[in-house]
Amino acid sequence: MPGGSEIEKIVAAVLAGVRASGSKELNAWHHPERDIRSLAQSDYAPSLRQQLDRIDVEEIVRAARTALPGLNRDHDPELIESWLTEASSSGLELLFSRVVNRLDIHLHGAPFTGPEGLALRGFFVNRDDKSLQRPLIYVNTAHHPVAAAATLFHEVGHLVASEVFDQRSREVHFFFDADYIAHLNDVEELSADIVLSLVAYPAPIAKKIFGTAWNWDALTRSTELSNDAFCQVSEHFRARFGVSLAAADLPARRKLNYLAGMIHFAKLRSTVLAEYGI
Ligand SMILES: [Zn+2]
Repeated sequence: MPGGSEIEKIVAAVLAGVRASGSKELNAWHHPERDIRSLAQSDYAPSLRQQLDRIDVEEIVRAARTALPGLNRDHDPELIESWLTEASSSGLELLFSRVVNRLDIHLHGAPFTGPEGLALRGFFVNRDDKSLQRPLIYVNTAHHPVAAAATLFHEVGHLVASEVFDQRSREVHFFFDADYIAHLNDVEELSADIVLSLVAYPAPIAKKIFGTAWNWDALTRSTELSNDAFCQVSEHFRARFGVSLAAADLPARRKLNYLAGMIHFAKLRSTVLAEYGI
């Protein structure tokens, strides 16, 4: 079994290839306003229905609860609550150690900066029973602690998806803070995003925020979240995670990148609720 330094070597080798593998995403990351526009206008329902039916999503929730028992319920005092109440570097470390205790994985958190390093949130590589005997999750801790914790939940979502859909490819699943729209056409990315969105908005909260999220007209449902729903999403972030994007001390583009993610996960959560009642 590879020791810690072997894992660090694998992480370093994967990170060295980030720029080559993510050129489309890096390009999108430089233009978050384009991402935001397309996310806001997209109808998520057809993509969700095409990739995952209700049974699939229920299966993802059931499988994810082995790692996150409180998933999609009001409270998980042991794990999710620790993220919610301690959205700081020390809270993140606590969260990491708890996740490692629950899952048979290699979890590696380290900052990855540089000119485009912040485009990367993390990655997931499944085990191959050769050089990697346990799945490997890397989280870029150069991000805000709330974002880094969110990355961890997305990567745990990959582990869940690999179990539910019995996928064992050694492919590296990079998570870039951009081009979220591409996740709608990829069943593994979409499943991972659903796990994160269920952590961020458990059912009781999702029903409150998104129960009347959509603007209806006579014939078709609007594809955009209502203003009121978006205000509630912002307030949810402030109240539950202690984060206000408007007030946060972050560079403007990073705020826009985070805003794109915020819109994506809110729309995804809202669509899962509207389409499948989950
Ligand atoms: Zn991913």
